[in-house]
Amino acid sequence: MPWPAAVVAAAAVGTGTAVSRRYLHVDPTLCVGHRLCAEMLPELITLDDFGYPIIPPDPLPRQLGSLVRRTVGACPALALTVDGTPGRRARRDEARPRTPSG
Ligand code: SF4
Repeated sequence: MPWPAAVVAAAAVGTGTAVSRRYLHVDPTLCVGHRLCAEMLPELITLDDFGYPIIPPDPLPRQLGSLVRRTVGACPALALTVDGTPGRRARRDEARPRTPSG
């Protein structure tokens, strides 16, 4: 799922560059479904049917850099990271039924 068009357009305003070369990732082995990330960064993170984050594999919009950093730092499970590795597009058959704990 690509970034919403409004986010990319907003990121382009005033910066001259819409996106960075940084990518947001979630480690599914650490994530316990607190949902905090989607509440802090609804512009980018949505939740699946089980309350686990869905993160688009696209480069991060520059304009949201500070919000992204705050969200990564707030994850209680330390499951979020930002690096230069392109995100991997999730396949529907990778969805795993789990029960969120919080
Ligand atoms: S805040 Fe962290 S543990 Fe909670 S849903 Fe988001 S990535 Fe998972």
